[in-house]
Amino acid sequence: MLRGLFIIFLLSSTVSSNQWNYGQLGPDIWSDYYPLCAGNSQSPINILTACTKYRNLKPFQLTSSYDEKHYFTLRNNGHTVIGIINQEYKQSPLVIAGGGLNGTFEFVNFHLHWGENYKSGSEHQINGIKYAGEIHFVYLNRLTSQMAVLGIFMQSYADSEAIRLDENDKTRQEWQRYFDITQTLKSENDSTVFNLNFRSLIGDNLADFWRYQGSLTTPPCSEGVIWTIFKQPIVFLETQFRTLRDNIYFEDYRGPQPLYNRTVYRNFHNETLSSIPDYNRCLLDSQNEKLKDKSLVFGLIHCSTHSFFLFLLCFYSLIIFAVFIFFKLRYSIWKKKFE
Ligand SMILES: [Zn+2]
Repeated sequence: MLRGLFIIFLLSSTVSSNQWNYGQLGPDIWSDYYPLCAGNSQSPINILTACTKYRNLKPFQLTSSYDEKHYFTLRNNGHTVIGIINQEYKQSPLVIAGGGLNGTFEFVNFHLHWGENYKSGSEHQINGIKYAGEIHFVYLNRLTSQMAVLGIFMQSYADSEAIRLDENDKTRQEWQRYFDITQTLKSENDSTVFNLNFRSLIGDNLADFWRYQGSLTTPPCSEGVIWTIFKQPIVFLETQFRTLRDNIYFEDYRGPQPLYNRTVYRNFHNETLSSIPDYNRCLLDSQNEKLKDKSLVFGLIHCSTHSFFLFLLCFYSLIIFAVFIFFKLRYSIWKKKFE
């Protein structure tokens, strides 16, 4: 419980923003002050889709409280705008279950990461491709202190392509309300109380996702975080990102970290492969492995065939030798009888 509270403190309190940022004290030197940032299970990562493994993970379940509007405190924490549930209102907690997670997880905070243009800003990458941004919904299992983050990509369209977007899209309308209020939180510690519908914010494309073990993507970079990255992005307009870049921070994302020996799982069968052949190397490697396996099996069969013939040769030689000895002895006995 104490650990859980400590984690909540880390994620939502006014920790000093002076010792790290996305500029001079940027991600490359975070580990100078926060050694955990140089760990072996860091986030984000570049997900090589050909290297992911299928795992049967159940769909996520959201409690009915997601349909209600919740009052959030939105605060500029010096790195992004962080949203936590406002405790002055009596509100039912936002809880998730399923998704292959153990137990129920309660909402802690949500925040965005974005970049300087429409091709950069997401923390996770898919086959080396970055989206314009990434939404993080941070959750905690209060019984086990296990932390889980749900990441949804933000794809941005140029304003001229706006005609392609559905005007009645509830998700984008709710996010537009968020952008409108957020752009007023220009300085560190600026905050406001604002109501949002979480069901609309999250959208309805939670079916397909990737899963791996990682860390917080900001100092202190604590590990042991279960990551869920949803395949389907939410679509935004470039103007919406510009309000963030111009009024809040120019960019606030960490680049991909080494995967080391971790496995990335996916809960859907057919993985989309990259158009860049190099990114499908895992597939080629596994095919080569299979070929190697096959050649090993053939080798063993080949070898055992050889050994079998060698064995037969030895066996028949022994029989011929035994027959030879037998007749030689019989001949000696017979010869002695006539002498
Ligand atoms: Zn984040």
